Amino acid sequence: MDRADTDRHGDRADADSHGDRDPYADTDVTAVFERVSHPTRLDVLDALADAHAADPTDPWLAYTDLKTAVDVRDNGNFNYHLDALDDFVVKADAGYRLSRTGMELLTTAASGVLDTDWTWGPRDAPGTCPFCDDALEFHYTDGKLQLTCGIDEHAMALSAPPSLLQTTPDDELADNIAFLGYQWSQSIRQGVCTDCHAHVTGHVDHGGLQPDHHHYRADCKRCGYQHGVPLGLHLLTHPTVTHFHHNHDIDPRTTPWWTLHWTTPGTETTLQTDPIELEVAIELDDETLTLTIDHDGTITDTQRTRSE
Ligand SMILES: [Zn+2]
Ligand SMILES: [Zn+2]
Repeated sequence: MDRADTDRHGDRADADSHGDRDPYADTDVTAVFERVSHPTRLDVLDALADAHAADPTDPWLAYTDLKTAVDVRDNGNFNYHLDALDDFVVKADAGYRLSRTGMELLTTAASGVLDTDWTWGPRDAPGTCPFCDDALEFHYTDGKLQLTCGIDEHAMALSAPPSLLQTTPDDELADNIAFLGYQWSQSIRQGVCTDCHAHVTGHVDHGGLQPDHHHYRADCKRCGYQHGVPLGLHLLTHPTVTHFHHNHDIDPRTTPWWTLHWTTPGTETTLQTDPIELEVAIELDDETLTLTIDHDGTITDTQRTRSE
């Protein structure tokens, strides 16, 4: 995997490149994985998930119903696995149900992100490659969704899981993929890691695929994710920029942001380098919104002008 390019979001740090990360703090992850390391235990969770899906207001399964659903004859064996699940399940007079933690575990598995062998596409994507102008495609491979013209060095990783790609109608696909990117950018701007929800701080960084462009970078010390938000996507989630697009009948939350001309890498102007100060001009219809951005990624000045 290409480590030098931080502008492709979705790149995960190699473990040894993040010696100071603290992924699990004082949580006992080994014990968590051990608790579900048997098919019978997964069958129990599945049966409880089915009960929850059938009636969320009454998600309880009586002991005998649960045992029948899992199809284990031996009481001792069944009890052993049921006990091992510990706080993934809740026990009460009515029987058993999934706990919040048990549900989180199953929803992560249901999103498909744990299956790194799964592939999908290529499918036509809107817009053209910012580097060679060729048509773009979506292609899910190696555990991530790529926006690509077919040349590996031009590809950008997008954060959309298999569950979205498998269930979203074709005519809403690009919008929903763009929406996830918008949410991701909003969250990183606010200092919340989208992967583990730990606090992150970011700044504007220089470099990447093209020598003269910038991105907003926030490395999560907790899970090791290197968030490299394209500068255009970072700016798009600022209320002023969102409002400006809304005024010009563009929904910034669902418009595939890579098709907005001003988000092309390298269209920013460098006002100064130490500390970094950038200017970006967004032209929509007869109006221009000019932004000044500082090293922290904060918009320090805005100007709206109409052409004569
Ligand atoms: Zn290309
Ligand atoms: Zn994180």
